[in-house]
Amino acid sequence: MAVEDASQNDERKKKTVPPGMVMGPDGKPCKICTAFRNWTPRAANHTESDGSNKSRANGTQGPSSVTSMMAALAGGTAKAQSTTPVRPDEPPPGCPPDVEQLGRATWTFLHTTAAYYPDKPTPKQRANMLSLLHALPILYPCTWCAQDLGESLAVHPPDVRNRTALSLWLCQRHNEVNEKLGKETFDCSKVDERWRDGPAD
Ligand code: FAD
Repeated sequence: MAVEDASQNDERKKKTVPPGMVMGPDGKPCKICTAFRNWTPRAANHTESDGSNKSRANGTQGPSSVTSMMAALAGGTAKAQSTTPVRPDEPPPGCPPDVEQLGRATWTFLHTTAAYYPDKPTPKQRANMLSLLHALPILYPCTWCAQDLGESLAVHPPDVRNRTALSLWLCQRHNEVNEKLGKETFDCSKVDERWRDGPAD
């Protein structure tokens, strides 16, 4: 059984950038692990020409009831979607977030929190920051994102000594995800400009 689990895990890891809906560990479609453009059946079959489909997935579509629900969330029925040429890239206002909206919001929170972390944190502030960061691999709703973050934290423990160290550490973790998704890495010397000071006049 353990051997089977390990081989399944290996198989999943090989499929870092497949098209379509990402399946959760329960074998069901994981909406919060998936970019909105892949929530609908048609989008799940669609191969992105710009390489923007960066979510983890196994390319398997879910049951029709699930895909219909996702099509409805995307703004119509599955049938209506197939005749609608324009599909928004993001969930419409009022819809649950997709993996990208959740990611942007989370990075914004984490980088901003790091940017305003004290230069000389108290032991309690350090402990609370450690708790916050170590909670993410357990609680972050995108399962595969959480798992990868947990693996990264095991290799690179959070550096909570001070504001500068924490901001750099977080920038590096974010860059790991950027690389995994095939995105450009961010120049970590610019974290303060991006998340605290803004561009110089
Ligand atoms: P984001 O990557 O969300 O970045 C937001 C802004 O942060 C950028 O516009 C840029 O100004 C700035 N920025 C970029 N890089 C850095 C950096 N290194 N340091 C500081 N600032 C930076 N999505 C998946 O599809 N699969 C995953 O496995 C996955 N794992 C994730 C794990 C975590 C812990 C988190 C928080 C998110 C994860 N995501 C994942 C979401 C993904 O990282 C992006 O948030 C999402 O794809 C939207 O990307 P974006 O291009 O809008 O910018």
